[in-house]
Amino acid sequence: MRASQLYAPTLRETPAEAEVISHQLMLRAGFIRKAAGGMYTYLPLAWRVLRKIETIVREEMDAKGGQELAMPVIQPAEIWQESGRWDVYGDEMFRLKDRHNRNFCLGPTHEEMITTVVRSDVRSYRQLPLMLYQIQNKYRDEIRPRFGLMRGREFIMKDLYSFDRDEQGLDESYSKMYDAYTKIFTRCGLEFRPVEADSGAIGGSGSHEFMVLADSGEAAIVYCQKCNYAANVEKAEMHPIVAPDEEPLPLEERSTPGTKSIEAVCKLLKISADKTIKTLAYQTEKKLVLALVRGDHEVNEIKLQNELNCINLALANEIDVQNLTGAVPGFIGPIGVKDVIIVADATVMNMHNSVAGANKTDYHYINVNPGRDFKPAIVADIRMIKESDPCPHCGAPVNTARGIEAGQVFKLYTKYSKALKATFLDENGKEKLMVMGCYGVGVSRTMAAAIEQNNDEHGIIWPVAIAPYHAVIVPVNVKDIAQMELAEKIYTELNKSGVDAVLDDRPERAGVKFKDADLIGYPLKITLGPKALNENLIEVKVRKNGEIFFFAPENFVTEIKTLLKKL
Ligand code: ATP
Ligand code: MG
Repeated sequence: MRASQLYAPTLRETPAEAEVISHQLMLRAGFIRKAAGGMYTYLPLAWRVLRKIETIVREEMDAKGGQELAMPVIQPAEIWQESGRWDVYGDEMFRLKDRHNRNFCLGPTHEEMITTVVRSDVRSYRQLPLMLYQIQNKYRDEIRPRFGLMRGREFIMKDLYSFDRDEQGLDESYSKMYDAYTKIFTRCGLEFRPVEADSGAIGGSGSHEFMVLADSGEAAIVYCQKCNYAANVEKAEMHPIVAPDEEPLPLEERSTPGTKSIEAVCKLLKISADKTIKTLAYQTEKKLVLALVRGDHEVNEIKLQNELNCINLALANEIDVQNLTGAVPGFIGPIGVKDVIIVADATVMNMHNSVAGANKTDYHYINVNPGRDFKPAIVADIRMIKESDPCPHCGAPVNTARGIEAGQVFKLYTKYSKALKATFLDENGKEKLMVMGCYGVGVSRTMAAAIEQNNDEHGIIWPVAIAPYHAVIVPVNVKDIAQMELAEKIYTELNKSGVDAVLDDRPERAGVKFKDADLIGYPLKITLGPKALNENLIEVKVRKNGEIFFFAPENFVTEIKTLLKKL
């Protein structure tokens, strides 16, 4: 490709709407253009990156026995009604009607579709296991589409579905995919970590997320350096803390004016936060929920939602809280409230003579003893893990990091085969449910994640494997005939030998070209100036670390290939 013809319109200014670096750089370097919120046109440079990621994904799926197919993007409502997800999916689903007023949706995922395909054709255990996948646009009307390609409303996903005879088969398919994902992100040149994950709305249990490590990541993860445990904070289990025994004292009401925060009440009563019970009120489609954690702990809303088995969960508004408890938030507590569901973190049940809101504005109870003074409907682990908390496996203090979820593997078990009646006959002629798994890679999000992880003040730094082009050749003076001849020669030779090279033949100043080269992020910059002609040495600069090499024109291609392999 010649830069004079390449459709990569670069921008001088950083577009104001772009909050994260990958979004800014993809707009500035001419990779994407916005069509609507969360929807983008992929310009040629981006499309090359996406195709390279797809190729890696495809090769690794095929290597594990995956078979590629293509399902429709538009899906009939009936299959979603059969699985029970038509209503559950909510506003995130793009819905549409055809001319006959029939309901459809734009596929946010394809469990229903693939299960109805497989159930109609697979009859015998001999036809299993199966691993079927596609690479396709997915549609989710996200509440907050943002960060460019990181959270789009239209995005590219590889989705594979496994069908096995039994759970042992599922375990094998799952570990094949886990291995394939490890290979995919390694080959993409990314620093990542697989972490234990919550299985979320899709259901089932047993899941890992593949997190590309970047400070801008939306996900928080914990990991243990001692035993290698790693999990999404949403998932990380916490063991209850046992407090030293105390003689229970009589419950007493105390005036605590203006102490809306744990900090304020601790200061007034001269106690530490671990002697207080924090009460948060949540609205659900069931009842108002009071969630209790120790004062110095935080509620993990994912765990809470899983325990309650509810679809909606959000902090309750002040008026509802006041109507039910008689107090403003800050003074609510678990004692004497009616018509609410009380969920206590297991640690709370081990507390003695603690402080909790009295359900009366400006008052707290002291000497609260859970079990004696109130009985929660649910006692469970609903606490959010934090830096230095004990590792749930070995007890050593955990570390935290941020990541971008680029892929996820799920064990679905029989959730969909049961709902959609996908059965087969086993060796004994007995009808059984297929045991399923699903496995997604966000192809477009992986491109954004690669930039989040690999950039500097000058622009993108592409890992070689997914770079749109491997190298750019910059003749310093396009009017110099000898220089241009040499440039053309190495340009042709590089491309012929499989190195994707761009020749920057634009009649621009060298400085402008160098700036664009850094912005676009070619792994290698090949500069042809007087030195190349006079001393027979061509300068090659590595984008990643600024290292400079000089190669002779004779064995130039071999040198470049060797260098690219090392990066
Ligand atoms: P998230 O929690 O970030 O919303 P998810 O868990 O809902 O994602 P999955 O259903 O697991 O997503 O989809 C598989 C993969 O698709 C994700 O790991 C991610 O890489 C990608 N993905 C999901 N939602 C989006 C989106 N809105 N934009 C871009 N990629 C996405
Ligand atoms: Mg996910």
